[in-house]
Amino acid sequence: MEMKLYDEVIKKCQDRLETEESRQLSLEETGWPEVSDRSMILRSDMAYELGGERFPAIGCTMITANPELVPSDKITLLGKDLPEIQGDVPYGRIALVRVDEETLGEGQVLYQAVRALEYTRYHFYPEGFMMRVSAFKQRESVRIGKAALAKGLDFTKTGNRMISAFHKNLSVRAVHIYYITREDFDYKLLESFAKETESITQTIDHILKTSLMDCKACSLKKVCDEVEGLRELHFAK
Ligand code: SF4
Repeated sequence: MEMKLYDEVIKKCQDRLETEESRQLSLEETGWPEVSDRSMILRSDMAYELGGERFPAIGCTMITANPELVPSDKITLLGKDLPEIQGDVPYGRIALVRVDEETLGEGQVLYQAVRALEYTRYHFYPEGFMMRVSAFKQRESVRIGKAALAKGLDFTKTGNRMISAFHKNLSVRAVHIYYITREDFDYKLLESFAKETESITQTIDHILKTSLMDCKACSLKKVCDEVEGLRELHFAK
């Protein structure tokens, strides 16, 4: 039951991301090369940055056990694909990951499992696609290499790579990745969904660590009031 925790925020997100302009990218093994985790794209080798300094740069992973929300692997793009982009653009990357609830576990194991899935972003390195994460500022931007772009890098290639990276985790059943590069998208709202997701994850952690159960005095009351299942998680402990 715990994995319903993110379902409401996932639904709100999908409401915004499933539009008439959303394009499905193909699922295929493109054979695009991976590079080592230490390879850098210097500014001089960079074509542009997704989520460059002045722009929103949102990366978020949300987990569910509900097959209606994530029936199968999928990649959806809102906005321009990499070859069509000319300079820095705003950027969003949302991954909805459906897991087999049984294999996720409960308690501390559940919290670790959620974090492990999020950290998948640190375990994939498509050539020419250098992710830069500031966990502190909750930003995820990406430097795109000129050479890779000339060789045909696009979101179909990075998306398929990311889906394979998630599938290395044996609890994962299906992954839906959304890339957003539209100029006129409501990134503030998307950012609020990412924040909501993070506060749910932090609340799971808090619940596991504290035996205080005074909701009136608890700093997390606001999150627990809104997210179905959190209070049950705490009181079942
Ligand atoms: S259930 Fe109550 S005490 Fe527990 S984290 Fe939520 S608000 Fe706090």
